[in-house]
Amino acid sequence: MNTPSHIPLFGRIVLIGSGLIGSSLARAIHNQNLAEHVTVAARSQATLDVMLDLGLAKFATLDVAKAVVNADLVILCTPLSAYKKIAQTISSALKPGAIVSDVGSCKNIMFSDVAPYLPKNVHMIPGHPVAGTENSGPKAGYAELFKDRWCILTPGPGASHKAVNQVEKFWRQLGMDVEIMDAGHHDQVLALTSHLPHLIAYTIVGTATDLEDDLKKEVLKYSASGFRDFTRIASSDPVMWRDIFLKNTDAILNVLERFTEDLESLRNTIRHGDAKKLENHFNRTREIRRGIINAKQN
Ligand code: NAP
Repeated sequence: MNTPSHIPLFGRIVLIGSGLIGSSLARAIHNQNLAEHVTVAARSQATLDVMLDLGLAKFATLDVAKAVVNADLVILCTPLSAYKKIAQTISSALKPGAIVSDVGSCKNIMFSDVAPYLPKNVHMIPGHPVAGTENSGPKAGYAELFKDRWCILTPGPGASHKAVNQVEKFWRQLGMDVEIMDAGHHDQVLALTSHLPHLIAYTIVGTATDLEDDLKKEVLKYSASGFRDFTRIASSDPVMWRDIFLKNTDAILNVLERFTEDLESLRNTIRHGDAKKLENHFNRTREIRRGIINAKQN
């Protein structure tokens, strides 16, 4: 992690949602001294109590409109399906010049569900820290979650450079590398690198669950040989993933089509017993794994 800043980057940061990502942010903001004041909002008092007990917020409230009063930076850290209602609710309480950002796994949604409700004098700078685990809730968070990972910002064409720079500085201070990208491009890339792998994991684990009892026992017993990794991915938060498939539908259907064609081609290679082609394919995929390790993203 970077050395904590001497002067906080923001006066008042408000985190709406205090689960894995929101609470990790609260921890990291605290460690890095990035805000004079952190307010958190959530849906349940139980979550707010955890945040207050851990000393991760000065003020915690169930009322999102009340939370954002005087905020310099508001970060949405809720499931995507909550965005529109939150944007409508906080709109009139935001001060001029405030920055509204998020951590959501899809980015077009900020332009469809949030932007239309924000006042003109507020800056919207969408963000996606590409870092996470399969766990949820405020106790699952940890400050180092973001270290050495990518954060993708997708400001619109008219976004204020000053606001983009401030948000970029914020994520860099948390140890992230930052990339600026068009929101639609982000959603296509992530459909392939994250959303499709989750869909495959959900499918394989679903297939195993539907097996007859005897076979199911064997699957669990010998799960070390690959299946276990899929069960970890398929145990990710059901609401978060439901929302991703509902909000990034077009991009996911696109990559799914490509994937289905490639799967079909591989099936034919196996059926024809084409050893050379299989080996070439596996050599190529092994190289990709090496590339990821070299880029320190494993
Ligand atoms: P999480 O652990 O389930 O936490 C979600 C939080 O949102 C909870 O604190 C919940 O409050 C709160 N919330 C839900 N609806 C709300 C509403 N209407 N108003 C206010 N608060 C509300 O989820 P997460 O894993 O942190 O994910 C949050 C976001 O981060 C998602 O959009 C996801 O796409 C994105 N993301 C996740 C990961 C990951 O690996 N998990 C990685 C990158 C980005 P209660 O606790 O009171 O229910």
